[in-house]
Amino acid sequence: MKQKVIRKGSSFFLEEVPAGEVFTPEDFGEEHEMIIRTTERFVKNEVVPQADVLEHKEEDLERAFELHRQLMLKAGELGLLGVDIEEQYGGAEMDVISSLLIAEHSTLSGSFGLTMNDHTGIGSMPLVFFGNRAQKEKYLPAMARGEKIGCYALTEPEAGTDAMSIKATAKLSADGKYYKLDGTKQYVTNGGFADIIFTYAKVDGADKMTAFIVERDFEGVSTGTEEKKMGIRGSSTCSIFLDSAKVPVENVLFEIGRGHIVAFNILNLGRFKLAASCVGVAKIAIESSVGYSKERVQFGRPICQFGLMKHKIAEMATRTYIAESMLYRTGGLIDTILATVDRTAEDVGRQSARSIGEYAVECSINKVYCSEMLGYVADEAVQMYGGYGYCEDYPVERIYRDNRIFRIFEGTNEINRVLITGMLLRNALKGEIPLFAEAEKAKAELPSMEPLTPSADDGPLGYQRKLVDRAKKIFLFLCGAAAQKYEMAIEEEEEVLGLLADIAQEVYAMESGLLRALKSVDSVGEQQSKTKIEMVRLYVNDAMVRVSGYARQLLAAMETGEALDSQLATLRKVSQFTPLNGVQLRRGIADEIIEVGRFTC
Ligand SMILES: Cc1cc2nc3c(=O)[nH]c(=O)nc-3n(C[C@H](O)[C@H](O)[C@H](O)COP(=O)(O)OP(=O)(O)OC[C@H]3O[C@@H](n4cnc5c(N)ncnc54)[C@H](O)[C@@H]3O)c2cc1C
Repeated sequence: MKQKVIRKGSSFFLEEVPAGEVFTPEDFGEEHEMIIRTTERFVKNEVVPQADVLEHKEEDLERAFELHRQLMLKAGELGLLGVDIEEQYGGAEMDVISSLLIAEHSTLSGSFGLTMNDHTGIGSMPLVFFGNRAQKEKYLPAMARGEKIGCYALTEPEAGTDAMSIKATAKLSADGKYYKLDGTKQYVTNGGFADIIFTYAKVDGADKMTAFIVERDFEGVSTGTEEKKMGIRGSSTCSIFLDSAKVPVENVLFEIGRGHIVAFNILNLGRFKLAASCVGVAKIAIESSVGYSKERVQFGRPICQFGLMKHKIAEMATRTYIAESMLYRTGGLIDTILATVDRTAEDVGRQSARSIGEYAVECSINKVYCSEMLGYVADEAVQMYGGYGYCEDYPVERIYRDNRIFRIFEGTNEINRVLITGMLLRNALKGEIPLFAEAEKAKAELPSMEPLTPSADDGPLGYQRKLVDRAKKIFLFLCGAAAQKYEMAIEEEEEVLGLLADIAQEVYAMESGLLRALKSVDSVGEQQSKTKIEMVRLYVNDAMVRVSGYARQLLAAMETGEALDSQLATLRKVSQFTPLNGVQLRRGIADEIIEVGRFTC
């Protein structure tokens, strides 16, 4: 079997990746298909019939919480909760792709999907990655079975995005046997019924936080009332109060003063799984709105036949295709690096967390891109329903409200944008990626580059590959210019970091869609890959215009006078390309989606 290549994290804009190397949804194996079927059957048969009770939980909170517990037990029986947990602790220890598939395909369950994914993600991974043997033996088997439910309590009233500034304290008792925790944790998903709380506090006035495993039944632990939320109303979100909460010393997770390592490493995977949920919801929104558009008649025709409806359908499907391609490509990268981790080592969890951390930039890109893709898709789905979409009786109303949170939690999209560019530059400064050398090369090459036009011998998507390569060069040049201009003060230039992050994610998005389509062409030929090819042509066509716009804004922010004129002239030349007929491409894609009645590619 061919050895899989381990790519350096955040190096995607530095090298040409062969299409055969990326993991795509077309590569799902029999086990993956089985996971999809199991998840979908569970959601359809067990959760959807109870959706109303969950959604209106305020009418009978006890009943709704009990239902969450029962459903979690069933999910546990089916093996849906232990995918990331080691076999010796009752889990199935499957690959990351399996974990993503559960996150994606559980979304039809609405709020319960969040309960489940929070539990399997940030609500149990602190222990999987950072727990010691005794801690894992004590808690993980019951968590894999769904008997004990987990949650992650980091946010405080005055410490949200600025998580390092938490105020919760921990004081060691005189006999050295336990810590007393004081503080308030806020907006805790699963907070109302979780048994195990992974929380963070500063020990004896230290600057850095420590992670703790707190049981709900410990003395001094209580919960607040449920938040009245815009969406995901069936999920539990509340405060957790720690009032001299008595936590045995054995429940310190990882090392004193190193809780931030736990907190932030867990968020890498949390963000990534959140992206999978976004892809799942987007597909549901497409199926629902396309189905409606085939039924709804105006001016004597189903509304799906109107050009501007087709525009929306094609755009929604194309962005979902790109998001899905990026998601599973990243999943493949992570699985490849995880395969090198010694599964018998005592610190297998920490090694795994470190390996996933290699792709922290890609995880953040997935979070931002997929949540914004879903924001767009959900909004357009409501629009396609017209006034009906605004009413509770129709499914897209809830999707519209529910999706909004994805841009806020697991690190807001603003802070993730700052992180994307910040981490890239840090990796470059540490010498882990040759960003600055490549930026210098791009600076030297760009002035002599010509505008791009399609040519007869490009081959399928050859033109798009050239455009993506051009976008990479533009990005490299701008990164180098920004680093040179601001040096260490770049952290204060958030708008610059944000624009660079926008270009980086467009590059990763375009390339992920492109590589998947090329892999498909290699495997099943051009005809069978027609929709993918059209989606990539459409996406790259539009994304290149966005890249050029971000680049102009960046140059205008960084340069003045003659230097600005000269750089804008170069940019105009190198970002110029012959556009394709987007109207025709969208019509072709939309016709395919309308015929099938759901997302397809
Ligand atoms: C339904 C729900 C469920 C949640 N579940 C959990 C959970 O299970 N566990 C948990 O610990 N937390 C949870 N949270 C909390 C969530 O992670 C925080 O709300 C989020 O991190 C933002 O913090 P904040 O609300 O304090 O906003 P703030 O940090 O006050 O941010 C307000 C605005 O300022 C922006 N901002 C802040 N700092 C910067 C900066 N440096 N640069 C640019 N912009 C900035 C933000 O992007 C945002 O737009 C949940 C929240 C909700 C609403």
